[in-house]
Amino acid sequence: MDFFSRPITALSGVGKVRAEALLRLGIETVGDLIAFYPRAYENRGEISLIKTAPTDAPTSLILTVGTAPRSAKIKRGMTLTKFRAFDESGTVEITFFNSPYIKDVFSVGQEFRFFGKIERKARSFAMTNPKYEPICEGKALQDLIPVYHLTEGITSKYIEKLLRDVIDDAVRLTDDFLPEAIRLENNLPHLALAIRNIHFPDSHEALSSALRRMAFDELLTFGLGISLNIRHKNDREGVRFSPCSLSPFTDMLKFELTGSQKLAINDIYNDTVLKCKGDILPPMTRIVVGDVGCGKTVVCMAAIYIAAKSSYQSALMVPTEILARQHFKELCEVLSPLGIKCELLVSATSQKEKNRIYSEAASGECQVIVGTHALISDKLSFKKLGLVVTDEQHRFGVGQRAALKEKSAEAHLLVMSATPIPRTLALAMYGDLDVSRITEMPKGRMRVDTFLVDSTYRERLNSFIEKQVKLSGQVYVVCPSIEPTEDGAKAHEPTSFSSLFKSNDTPLKNATEYAKELAEALPALRVGCLHGRMKSREKDEVMRKFSSGELDVLVSTTVIEVGVNVPSATLMVIENAERFGLSQLHQLRGRVGRGKMKSYCILVSDTTHEISRARLDAMRTTYDGYEIAEKDLLLRGPGDFFSQISADSFRQSGGFEFRFAKLCDDSTLMERAFSVAKDIVARDKDLTLDEHQLIRKMLEGRITVAPSSIS
Ligand code: ADP
Ligand code: MG
Repeated sequence: MDFFSRPITALSGVGKVRAEALLRLGIETVGDLIAFYPRAYENRGEISLIKTAPTDAPTSLILTVGTAPRSAKIKRGMTLTKFRAFDESGTVEITFFNSPYIKDVFSVGQEFRFFGKIERKARSFAMTNPKYEPICEGKALQDLIPVYHLTEGITSKYIEKLLRDVIDDAVRLTDDFLPEAIRLENNLPHLALAIRNIHFPDSHEALSSALRRMAFDELLTFGLGISLNIRHKNDREGVRFSPCSLSPFTDMLKFELTGSQKLAINDIYNDTVLKCKGDILPPMTRIVVGDVGCGKTVVCMAAIYIAAKSSYQSALMVPTEILARQHFKELCEVLSPLGIKCELLVSATSQKEKNRIYSEAASGECQVIVGTHALISDKLSFKKLGLVVTDEQHRFGVGQRAALKEKSAEAHLLVMSATPIPRTLALAMYGDLDVSRITEMPKGRMRVDTFLVDSTYRERLNSFIEKQVKLSGQVYVVCPSIEPTEDGAKAHEPTSFSSLFKSNDTPLKNATEYAKELAEALPALRVGCLHGRMKSREKDEVMRKFSSGELDVLVSTTVIEVGVNVPSATLMVIENAERFGLSQLHQLRGRVGRGKMKSYCILVSDTTHEISRARLDAMRTTYDGYEIAEKDLLLRGPGDFFSQISADSFRQSGGFEFRFAKLCDDSTLMERAFSVAKDIVARDKDLTLDEHQLIRKMLEGRITVAPSSIS
């Protein structure tokens, strides 16, 4: 059997119980184990002195044991083992819980490297349960220690031991799918070497280079997916819509279209009506990009109107139920009077209602279906689907988009996005789409003044919240996590290669607890809480209460990020603002300032990290989404954008995660990977050349591209 397919139970030290625990981590085979990359690295190479060691993060110390360890039984059968150790700057008391064997490990005069958090007491220093390694002459200690995601019964040391047993064979047997010339040209290590260094880093440099290789591979895979799609796109022919006048539609609107909106609608008309005259032309694949609030919805309504005038049906898919309902309402207001029948399809829709909608879609009785990913269901089929629209596309995976599009190969595709992608990235990210940019805002929009404060402002902030409510405004408070018990590892996800080496222990505000705290601090206000783990019915109810003014303050996670429109919301407070991408902050800020009242955004952050502060400062001084995106790219590298498109849906779609690419601080790496992908596909569009067979194999099951692309 192939080495990488061998079951993990074939390794020594893996019994039934351990195998089950490993399965929980997704490790079934040797290959899974090899691909189980660390989530971070402890940097034990930087040695601190007791006196000057940081007290807010674990640190390494080289100490000499000063007193013999002594154990004492304390209550409930617990034992404490204590001893003192020192360096040139002072002495620290070290305590181990329930580890009587420690007595035999440490003897006076021996030197160890300890790793843990130092506590500063009144006059002394203490450490509890530190990690330790003896210092032996002639044997260097490893500086970078991998930290793995763990589950009960599995320690990092155990994972490391398993890996040690297989790494040599794995390295020997790893073929690099990347042709050598490409590898050298882009200054990348061999895949085998990268794999070894990911698990057992020789040095910072070797690790960085390995991480770079991993990031490159992800980007290349993504780039290949896009390039293959483009190559195959031109094989198909799109449906043709008939020429029609848009006046009946624009007459229904309560406002004049902006110039940008008109241009975007024109592009769509051109793609679906004009261009289709005569020649065989492929279906439209267009993305409308425009800052939050610029009015993209009306553009997609126009497209739906054009389709309906030619008796073609449209499907509009949005990422959340809240947004689906809102769009549905807006669509009905404008399109129903024009005789276009719309229906709403979400997971919460009753089975009976769903069946009715399925049958009306199949018979052609209903022209527009708005919904969430419930639209992807096999049961939904259309009589004449002519247009597929996805809104807030960064929340969907390429896979989900493709799945909806599969319902009709000839249908036109329209994608709406409020994620301002810098120009340098646009080509790469939307390589397979034509772009219409909305650059104007509707008249009369006011700027949302933005402030950056730290948590010492808490009381003043609370008064400000009260004041806004008194002025009959409403307040959003966004927190980075849901509840205190949330997987700590996840909350501490590193955000760049360099942050892989740092620990970050700033406590995160969580929506559930903070909603309670606020309700207590502001008893006169009605505070609600909303997060992604609530049932959709509960979510809707809370959102409904907030939009109807039955709640003054809504504490939530980023579930409110996309699309929702509550015009009387005048204040957006974002807790642990350093945790969010700039574009995400900009999206959140776009939730307020939608009505007539002056609106504010307050970013709360205690970060002292230089880049984080610079990023948040950019939010204070810049109000243009594109400019913000450019600044973010400059400050952070392209990682942020990948975190966004690798959001939940991407994983669900069977797509892949940009695990390494999102940590990448090299903004040229993506361009390189994409140009390599383009070259490969240009030369070999079906990947049939011998030199591309390993690439082909690597891609199988990893990317979701249009069905015709990879046979
Ligand atoms: P987004 O681009 O963020 O999806 P929406 O389509 O939700 O923005 O539009 C935001 C608000 O602006 C809506 O209330 C919409 O009715 C309004 N709007 C859209 N276009 C115009 C316009 N040309 N003039 C005035 N208001 C507009
Ligand atoms: Mg929108």
